Amino acid sequence: MNLLLCSLFREKKRRRVVELTEKMVVDGGSGRTCEWDGRWNHIKKFLERSGPFTHPDFEPSTESLQFMLETCKILVIGAGGLGCELLKDLALSGFRNIHVVDMDTIDVSNLNRQFLFRPTDVGRPKANVAADFVNNRIPGCYIILEFIYPSFIHLEFHIIVCGLDSIVARRWMNGILNPSSIIPLIDGGTEGFKGNARVILPGMTACIDCTLELYPPQINFPMCTIASMPRLPEHCIEYVRMLLWPKETPFGDGVVLDGDDPEHIQWVYQRSLERAADFNITGVTYRLTQGVVKRIIPAVASTNAVIAGKSAYIPLNNYMVFNDVDGLYTYTFEAERKENCSACSQVPLDLHFSPSSKLQEMLDHLTESASLQMKSPALTATVEGKNKTLYLQSVASIEQRTRPNLSKTLKELGLSDGQELAVADATTPQTMLFRLCFTS
Ligand SMILES: [Zn+2]
Repeated sequence: MNLLLCSLFREKKRRRVVELTEKMVVDGGSGRTCEWDGRWNHIKKFLERSGPFTHPDFEPSTESLQFMLETCKILVIGAGGLGCELLKDLALSGFRNIHVVDMDTIDVSNLNRQFLFRPTDVGRPKANVAADFVNNRIPGCYIILEFIYPSFIHLEFHIIVCGLDSIVARRWMNGILNPSSIIPLIDGGTEGFKGNARVILPGMTACIDCTLELYPPQINFPMCTIASMPRLPEHCIEYVRMLLWPKETPFGDGVVLDGDDPEHIQWVYQRSLERAADFNITGVTYRLTQGVVKRIIPAVASTNAVIAGKSAYIPLNNYMVFNDVDGLYTYTFEAERKENCSACSQVPLDLHFSPSSKLQEMLDHLTESASLQMKSPALTATVEGKNKTLYLQSVASIEQRTRPNLSKTLKELGLSDGQELAVADATTPQTMLFRLCFTS
């Protein structure tokens, strides 16, 4: 069934390519592409001359433009806030062979910044609408849809550009990139007024997992600050949300705070104002209250534009940070590869536990460690010559069968010192290997 669907999609895609090629021939009349005098003059200024910022190895030539127009095949992952900017920037810069993938559909709240979408597009797939828009607007450009998230990186892309909003999806992509492929991955991310762009050369420079500590799991204020030393309006709102709500149960016992219920937000807002007044803190508003309760980070169109528009003659080496929360601050640094990175080093990581540790402790370590941040790890090991599933969460029947293992010790489970453990998780397409080192 899957195969059938895939070949159907492929055929649809092929037909679309044929249609577009025919269209280009008709439009252009030249038999190749639709061009007009001076169309690429602005791009040629960059490609056919050197300048103070050009890379030492860069040789100005007319071939670069031909490569961009005719050969270079780019994969854009994500057609959301960053993705719209990326597709527009790439298409206008002369890249024509662009593939895009995005599984999301358009929501009305996207329209303020995802400018390739119109109100009539709400509910339609982002990738389709974005591709149609750019293809219709920019003559000669043909963006092609990919219908599945790529396990198809062997399809010889020259560059992969990521505009994703999820760390798990990024890590998955990162895991797919094979060090032997040397397909550069250009990754961008934005959050409110902050953003970053980075270049990853698989196996050569730091990958996403090498620098996982840069993505803190979630912004949480320390409890002592919230409880006794608030300095920000957010601290006051968190105080009401975390401490007052369960204590005062304003809407009855067991009623969970609902960020979409205006009465709930109003209550939190009023109490937060009182708390803020006690500490001479200003800035608590209804909107902020809702934002903190629902953990909304506002998306800012200009940040997407800046991050997507980053370009340099000398390749970014390899991590750029941008922040315009207060004034403008930006700098670059070289993120370093981690010797024992779980994603790109291909060295089994050591896990240090005592034989009397419970399996639950190991599971907690895999999800809580800042350098691993797994979501729902599935653990298997070879015990007495047999492959044994120690714990697996994603299939209910297996979860039920393996749950008792969580409270057993590693010794009781038959694990030994130096034992290899295989761990599968949503954050990587590969099975990760760990080596169990017993501590005494
Ligand atoms: Zn790495």
